[in-house]
Formats: sequence, structure tokens, C-alpha cells
Amino acid sequence: MKKLLTTTLITILYLNFGIAQTSEKKVLEKLDTKSTAYTKIAQSIWDYAEMGYQEEKSSALLQKTLADENFKIEKGVAGIPTAFIAEYGSGSPVIAILGEYDALPGLSQKAVSHKESLGKTAGHACGHHLFGTASTAAAIAVKDWIKANKVKGTVRFYGCPAEEGGSGKVYMVREGLFDDVDIALHWHPNNANAASAGAALANKSAKFRFYGVSAHAAAAPDKGRSALDGVESMNMMVNLMREHIPQEARIHYVITDGGKAPNVVPDFAEVYYYVRHNRRDVVIDIFDRLLKTAEGAALGTGTTMDYEMIGGTHELLPNLTLQKIMHDNLTKVGGVSYTDEEKKFANEISITLGLKEFDEEKALKIMPYTTEARAFGSTDVGDVSFAVPTAGLSTATWVPGTAAHSWQAVAAGGTSIGYKAMMNAAKTLTLTAIDVLNNPDVVKKAKEELIEKRGEDFTYIPLLGDRKPALDYRN
Ligand SMILES: [Zn+2]
Ligand SMILES: [Zn+2]
Repeated sequence: MKKLLTTTLITILYLNFGIAQTSEKKVLEKLDTKSTAYTKIAQSIWDYAEMGYQEEKSSALLQKTLADENFKIEKGVAGIPTAFIAEYGSGSPVIAILGEYDALPGLSQKAVSHKESLGKTAGHACGHHLFGTASTAAAIAVKDWIKANKVKGTVRFYGCPAEEGGSGKVYMVREGLFDDVDIALHWHPNNANAASAGAALANKSAKFRFYGVSAHAAAAPDKGRSALDGVESMNMMVNLMREHIPQEARIHYVITDGGKAPNVVPDFAEVYYYVRHNRRDVVIDIFDRLLKTAEGAALGTGTTMDYEMIGGTHELLPNLTLQKIMHDNLTKVGGVSYTDEEKKFANEISITLGLKEFDEEKALKIMPYTTEARAFGSTDVGDVSFAVPTAGLSTATWVPGTAAHSWQAVAAGGTSIGYKAMMNAAKTLTLTAIDVLNNPDVVKKAKEELIEKRGEDFTYIPLLGDRKPALDYRN
């Protein structure tokens, strides 16, 4: 009898172990079987190419995909119509998987190896169609795993609009939507496979508007005061100021309205500025000086000026506890191998990038793990990373050598190269979430690390202040 019990126990233990093991493998296999469906979803979002806060169709498609998988949907969160949270499961840990789906203005491009517009107002030059879809796929795969193993835990997909300049996640953090989250996972399309402790710059952006007096530019110029003079004077002062700011800072602008006709003194002009640095206190300081140049420009040109804060994000605070797990999982999943047809496309793209030929090794390899990665972009994931232990990765969705925000990125992101790498990201996110669900210690360690890194006196102050979401910033 005793022997029988022991045997039964061993058999049960063995079976349970077996089930857990197969289940993880099964979940990944299921992801593979769904890759055509996910490719179709990403392709649709690539086609919609909706800009920040206008992502109605993209957001609805991802919501439907998650609702069909029994996720509970809360839409229109944080006062943003295209933001939503999809949730499955109960209790802790609560795992957030972030997804984006906004496109960039002016970068319409066909999925071909030469520059050719699709005739739209925007394009997915940052690959957010892949970002949103892979994160959705991962959330569903994690749900499958929770269900199959009857595990306690919650998986949430955060539908985050307007990453490109709109700082969508900042409003979601400000609203407290991450308060009960234990860890957050994200990824980003790239030209390489990496899961190192990535960095990102804090930023502040604003539109400066100058108001003058219109008059006939030749017949009565003395009656006019040019709003464009205000913009140009501000730009000149800022360009002189560049010599007297910390080296690593970045300032860039576009004139979004410079008047309509040379023979009319413009009574309105607008310039849109970004300031970035890897420390938010430096960004705040430079932005205050930028404001002085705008005030000085208005004073000197006899115009008036006001400004609207558009975006503001914290620098990224990578969580090394989670990041190392992410790297190990990416290594398990592997890089991106190309078919002959993809190689041909990649070779043609490489030539447009000034390279001799496509470097397959770069697409295949996983970049070595480092805790000192540098990056000069910004992301509103920064604000999430100060609220919750956060880790991310990137996969080679673009031909090696391709820069984000280029036509080559839109092109490759619309081909099987982008979709393959997207599935690699989905798998890596899934495995990492499963690791966290399997090891409660990870959450504890990750939280301790966050508290230590933030510093004891940390309080969250959004860099964009108390403004409402800039829902019309792309109009
Ligand atoms: Zn971008
Ligand atoms: Zn992006």
C-alpha cells in the first residue's frame, strides 16, 4: 500500500512536471500556428497607418483580437479614446505587456526595396504595427499558459496610443493605471536582436506660437509685425544656445506654420521643439532656457507668443533583474534567418543604405548582454519604468543598418522580415512572463531594485505637467 502511494505520488509529480514543461512548449508552438493570423493583423495596422491619438481602427482591431480570447476590455482609459487595457486572470503577480500602434506623419512607403510612397499621410516607420501585434500575441499566449496550468496571476495588455510625441503612457501612469502592476514588459522593432539594459533620453516638447499683424509685405510693411520673425529669432537664439548646453543634450525643431504667402506679412507662425537629455533635470533646465528665447524673440519682433506643452517623458530605468531573464529568453528564441527572396530584398535595401550587401550574420545574432547600452531616442515607457519594474527587448524587424523613422523601416516592416521578427518578440515576451509567473522571487527582487534605483525621496512628477492628453497634436 505504502509502495503504491509512493509510486502514485512519483507518477503525479512526474506528470505535473511533464505538463508544465509541455505547456510552455505548447504555448510557443501555438504562437507559431497563429503567426499567419498575427501577420494579417499587423499588416492591417501597417495599412491603416494611423497617427497618434487617431488610431481608431488599429486600437479596435487589437481590442477585438483580445476580446475574442476572453480578455476583459476597458477602453478609453486616461481620457484617451484609443487607449485601452485588456485583462485576463486574477490575483498577483500582475504582468503588464505594453503595446503601441501609432504611425509617423509623412513617411508613407510601399513594402518595396526602393523609395515609393503609398500615397498616405503617414507610415509605420517605427514599426509600431509590429509592436502592438506582438504584444497582443504574447498576452494571449501568457493567458493560454495561465489557463492550461491553472496558475494564479493576471496578464494585462496595455494599449498605449501616441508614443511618437504624444506621450500616451504618461497619462496612463499619471492616472494610476499601473499602480497595482508588478512588472511591465515591452519591446521595440529594430535592426538588431538585443535585450540589454537599454537607455532612452528624457524629453520635453512644445509648440511655440507667435502672433503678429498682417499687412501688404511690399506696400505697407511698416504696418505689419511678422510672426515668422518671432519664430526665426527664437530659432537663431536656440541655435546659439547649443554651444552652452551639456554635450549629450539634443534639441530639434520644425516650423509647422511659417505663413502662407510671401506678399502677406504672416500674423501667425508656429515652431515645434523637442529637448532631450539622459537626465530629466537637465531637460527641465534647458526647456526653461528655451522659453526665455521665445519670450525674447517676441519682445524683439513686436509679436506676442504663447506655447503649448505637447509631450514630456522620463528617461528609461531598465530593471536588470528582469532584463537578464529577457536576454536569456531572447537567446533561446534566436535571431532572424532570411529566405532567398528576403535576402534579395535585403540586398537591395542595403544598397540604398550605402552598404555593399546584406549582412546576414547581423540579423541572425543576438547582441551580447550589457548593462551600459546607450540610446538617443526617447520613449514614454520611461514613465512606466519609474512606476513598475520594466524590461524590454528589440528584434531585427528591419534590414541591418536601417534607421528607425526611415522609408526603409516602413518597407521592411511591411514584409515577412518584419513579421518573422515580430513573432520572435512575441515568444520572448511570453517566455519572460512565464518565468515571472513561475518564480515569485523575481518580482520581489525586481521591486527592490526599482526602489533602490529611484532613490528614497522619489516622487513622480510628469514632465508634461497637468495638461490633458494632446488629442489634436497631429491635426
Ligand atoms: Zn519612433
Ligand atoms: Zn517607436
